[in-house]
Amino acid sequence: MAVTNPFSGEALGEVACADASHVERAVASGLTGAAAMADLSTGERARILRCAASALESEAGRFSAAITAETGKPIRSATREVARAVNTLRLSAEEATRLAGETIAFDSFPGGEARSGHYLHEPLGVIAAITPFNDPLNLICHKIGPAFAAGNAVVLKPAEQAPLVAIMLARLMLAAGLPDGALNLLTGHGRDFGDALTSHRDVAMVSFTGGANVGQAICRSAGIKRVAMELGGNGPVIVMDDADIDKAAKACAAGAFGAAGQNCIGVQRIYVHDTVHDAFRDAIVAATNALRVGDPMDPATDIGPMICPQQAERIVHWTEEAVAQGATLLAGGERAGTLVRPTLLADVPEDARVACHEAFGPVVSLFRFTDLDEAIGAANRADYAIHAAIFTESLRHARHAARRLRVAGVMINDSTDYRLDAMPFGGAGRGNMGREGVRFAMREMSQTKVVCFHDA
Ligand code: NAD
Repeated sequence: MAVTNPFSGEALGEVACADASHVERAVASGLTGAAAMADLSTGERARILRCAASALESEAGRFSAAITAETGKPIRSATREVARAVNTLRLSAEEATRLAGETIAFDSFPGGEARSGHYLHEPLGVIAAITPFNDPLNLICHKIGPAFAAGNAVVLKPAEQAPLVAIMLARLMLAAGLPDGALNLLTGHGRDFGDALTSHRDVAMVSFTGGANVGQAICRSAGIKRVAMELGGNGPVIVMDDADIDKAAKACAAGAFGAAGQNCIGVQRIYVHDTVHDAFRDAIVAATNALRVGDPMDPATDIGPMICPQQAERIVHWTEEAVAQGATLLAGGERAGTLVRPTLLADVPEDARVACHEAFGPVVSLFRFTDLDEAIGAANRADYAIHAAIFTESLRHARHAARRLRVAGVMINDSTDYRLDAMPFGGAGRGNMGREGVRFAMREMSQTKVVCFHDA
C-alpha cells in the first residue's frame, strides 16, 4: 500500500500489506525472541535501550521530518515528540534495572514456619503492540520500551497511515543490539490481520492504543489473555470565576488545536463560569485566530493538516450539524483540503456530536455554568475519559474537582493535554484497562512468581 503525505498528497513510499500467514511467521519469530530476551540480564536490556535512545537522539532531525511528512504534525511538535521518545527509551533503560521483587516474611505468619522466599517479576513472552497514527514514534516507544525492559518480545502493528517512522525505529532498535526475533513489525491494515494477531494463542498480551470501536473488536477477539487499552476521551476543562482568564484561554487553545485536535487528551469541551464566560470567549477567540495554519514543515506553523480529507470533512460536517442544532460559530468552521481552521462553538446542545463523541479534530465547544458541581457533572458525562482540567486560583475548588472528576488524571491550571512520559497514564470509565508510563506498563507486561523454600 502507498503511504502519502497528508498535506501535499506526495507519495512517500510503499509498504507491504501483511495477512494472517505473516502473523504466523511474526509470532513464531517472537517466541524465539522472547526466549532470548528472557535470558538477557536486566543490565544488558538496559544497555540496548540506552544505546537505542542515543541513536534516536543523534538522528532526531531525520525522525522529526519523517513524522511531519507522514502525519502532517507540525515540525516543532514532531521535534518535541522525538525528544520525548528518546526520554521514554531512557526511562525504560532505568526502570529495567529496577525490576526487582521482595523477600516475603513467611515465618511471621501462622503456617509459614520454617519457610523463606521471595517473589520476582517474569516476562510474559510475546506482546502484540498496536498503535495509532497521531504520535507515531513515542506511542510505539511507550510499548516497546517497557516490553523490552521487562524481558518480552514484541510483534508491532503500527498505524497504516504512519508505518515508515515505525520501520525506521525498528531498524534502529535492531542496530542497538536486540536479539533476533525480539521485535517483529507487520505493516498493513488492522482489519486484514488484526484478528489473527490478537487471537493468536502464542500472543501473551495485547497492548492497544487507538479508538474505542477497534478496542471493542480487539477485546472480543483476544479472549482470555492480558489486554491493555489506551482509548480516546473528549477532554473537559472547567474555567472558574477566579481563574487567570488569559492564561486559561491560551492554554485551552493550544491544548485543543495542537496536532489539529488529533490528540486523545486534547481539550474538547470547556465549561466556563457564567460571570467570566464572555471575557473567556473573547480571549480564546483571539488566541485561536492567532494560530497559524498551514505547511507543517514550516517552523512557524502551529496547526497542520488532519490525517486525510475524510476526517477533515467529518469535522466540518459535525460543526455544521451543531450549528443547525442551535450552536453559534465563533471561529473556523471551514476547510481547504486536509487543513481545517481551528473551530470554536458556543451554545452547543449537550447531545450534539461535537460535544458528546470524541471529535479527534480541531473543534471545541464552550458551555456556561454557575455552580462547580454542575460543571463537574457535565464534565463527567462521557463513557471514555482520560484527563480533565480546572483553571482556578482556589485550592478548595481545585481539591474538590480533583476528588469528584471521574477521570484518570486531573490537571490544575493546565490543559488536559499535559502528559509527562514517566507519570501513570490511561483511561477512566469504560476505558479503564491498564496504565502506561514506563514503570506502570512494565508491571502489566510481567507476571509475578513466588519462590518458597521449606527448610524443615
Ligand atoms: P484506530 O483505532 O483506527 O487504529 C489504531 C490501530 O488499530 C491501527 O494500527 C489500526 O491499523 C489497528 N486496527 C484496526 N482494526 C484492527 C483490528 N480489527 N485488530 C487489530 N488492530 C486493528 O485509531 P487511529 O485513528 O489510528 O487513532 C485515533 C484514536 O486513537 C483516537 O480514538 C484516539 O483518542 C486514540 N488514541 C489514544 C491514545 C491514548 O494513549 N489513550 C493516544 C493516541 C490516540
